[in-house]
Amino acid sequence: MTAQIDHALEEIRRFRPSPEFAAQAVADESLYRRAAEDRLGFWAEQARELIQWETPFTEVLDWTNPPFARWFGDGRLNVAANCLDRHVDAGYGDRVAIHWEGEPGDSRSLTYAQLTDEVKRAANVLAGLGIAQGDRVAIYLPMIPEAVVAMLAVARLGAIHSVVFGGFSADSLASRIDDAEAKLVITADGGYRKGKVFPLKPVVDDALDRATGGSVQNVLVVQRGGNEVGWTEGRDQWWHDTVATASAEHTAEAFDAENPLFILYTSGTTGKPKGILHTSGGYLTQAAFTHKNVFDLHPETDVYWCTADVGWITGHSYVVYGPLANGATQVLYEGTPDSPHPGRWWEIVEKYRVSILYTAPTAIRSFMKLGRQIPHEFNLRSLRVLGSVGEPINPEAWIWYRHVIGGGSIPVVDTWWQTETGAIMISALPGVTDLKPGSAQVPVPGISVDILDDDGKPVGGEDGGLLVITEPWPSMLRGIWGDPERFRETYWEKFGDKYFAGDGARRDEDGDIWLLGRVDDVMNVSGHRLSTAEIESSLVAHPWTAEAAVVGAADETTGQAVVAFVILKASQADRVTDVAEASEELRRHVATQIGAIARPRQVFIVNELPKTRSGKIMRRLLRDLAEGRQVGDTTTLADTSVMTAITEQVR
Ligand code: ATP
Ligand code: MG
Repeated sequence: MTAQIDHALEEIRRFRPSPEFAAQAVADESLYRRAAEDRLGFWAEQARELIQWETPFTEVLDWTNPPFARWFGDGRLNVAANCLDRHVDAGYGDRVAIHWEGEPGDSRSLTYAQLTDEVKRAANVLAGLGIAQGDRVAIYLPMIPEAVVAMLAVARLGAIHSVVFGGFSADSLASRIDDAEAKLVITADGGYRKGKVFPLKPVVDDALDRATGGSVQNVLVVQRGGNEVGWTEGRDQWWHDTVATASAEHTAEAFDAENPLFILYTSGTTGKPKGILHTSGGYLTQAAFTHKNVFDLHPETDVYWCTADVGWITGHSYVVYGPLANGATQVLYEGTPDSPHPGRWWEIVEKYRVSILYTAPTAIRSFMKLGRQIPHEFNLRSLRVLGSVGEPINPEAWIWYRHVIGGGSIPVVDTWWQTETGAIMISALPGVTDLKPGSAQVPVPGISVDILDDDGKPVGGEDGGLLVITEPWPSMLRGIWGDPERFRETYWEKFGDKYFAGDGARRDEDGDIWLLGRVDDVMNVSGHRLSTAEIESSLVAHPWTAEAAVVGAADETTGQAVVAFVILKASQADRVTDVAEASEELRRHVATQIGAIARPRQVFIVNELPKTRSGKIMRRLLRDLAEGRQVGDTTTLADTSVMTAITEQVR
């Protein structure tokens, strides 16, 4: 088998930064020059400029024991103090850190001074419960300010948080608690979602019955949903009884740069989630650097909003650590995009005059499905930078995002990275890079990537291959919790000292990088290796289509055949009456746009696609369906009933 992936879809649109934007941009070409001339020197400068060190480091990178890297190894810092106290000390205590919007419409704004106080109180409570450096704390909370407070309080003590997405089941929570041997769980009674309260504390109780490790000594409960909860005396404590009355005096102690900061499990798109370990100094440096430069952050004037849940890596790096290290003002929203009405997000943008918005292609495509009239009811003119993360963004979705949400002229950055990379790795820099819809474009300054074939040789021309990161980077994962062997095997075995990301990619003639989808999802049709991302983008470019997922299914004549699952736009769903004809039209469309080889054998029109809880398409389940197999493990699926519905539509 060859790793080469044929590339077929042409995208020729280009957008140059406007001179006005470029003139005020935070980033400039000199970052690339400096990083190219002295990569480690560049990162050392960023670490000194963006982070406050209690003990300055003298050593930048120790890579003598690959794949275990040490960055800024002899430096010491407190991560939470970097996100809080230092801004207050510098005179920015009155700046709003968080504009929080609850789903039912309640709201709260916290300044840096208030957030710092809250974290100090919480740190005192945690210390009182015996939490100290190195202890693990599981956090299972809705998107409320206490989620941020809890993470920072744990970090302040040098302990390790493991945030578990509030939508996960008791089983998933139990296995994560056991894996990390958490001593404390921080949760809420419940949170709001789609107009209803969903229970959290009862799930924790259930999880603790299932957990076999018996590591948990206490449960700290925030009151949010007002739902009834059971209580275990001696173990359970209310946040408002303890944190509110605790002292707001707390001196942050400095810890080693390599002190573990958190464990976070991957989204589980391709299989069983991995407990990814991140540490302090390098992680914070790259999170802050990318947040500042990729989003063109002007902390005095910008209002930033990243829509990711804190249960995902995007919520860690771009809701908590990057923005707060940079002293940004941000919006935090508890609920779903369509509660109580489908314009909720745009109402929030208007209300807080959000200027930087960072979200996922799945959200953008679901807004496309509903139509532009919904965002058009709101004033979105405050927006000046748009970001995307999580999956390849189809060029059509990129254009829609830029035009309908961004008003047609503001930069859109497509950011490629992973839980493992800790921070953005590939992205345009607004004001610097000419933008290309659909391409993640270039490694950020200080990052080195390559595209290799199966034998580890760089692929030539515009051929697709395997994306690797060729040099260690500050926010790289330091391991898989408790499983160094799996760490080596998963990422390092294939290419030795190069990190294997598991994604396919190609470079175009300008050297810009295009993500082609997961390597495991690449299809082999009559000896041609085709990318899921390209065929999906072609389908989404058809005026009828809102979303598409493509898989390769075993085929007697071609080895594999392309099978597509398509969701139509709401405005088209009524017009398309003949499903067979619509499928035929979409098959023809792909053949014309890409070539006969990519023509899907079947196009199924469906109402939903199987997605993980972070919104990514789970193609392996569709492959099971397309090959007539029993559908595999659905435990990381957001809605397990979706596969049953799709199966019925397809049969
Ligand atoms: P698991 O590793 O458990 O299967 P996951 O890979 O979905 O889960 P994450 O770390 O949340 O978990 O996602 C990282 C992956 O998301 C990347 O490897 C890539 O496939 C995809 N991705 C993220 N951003 C982009 C992007 N801008 N363009 C293309 N793909 C992206
Ligand atoms: Mg992954």
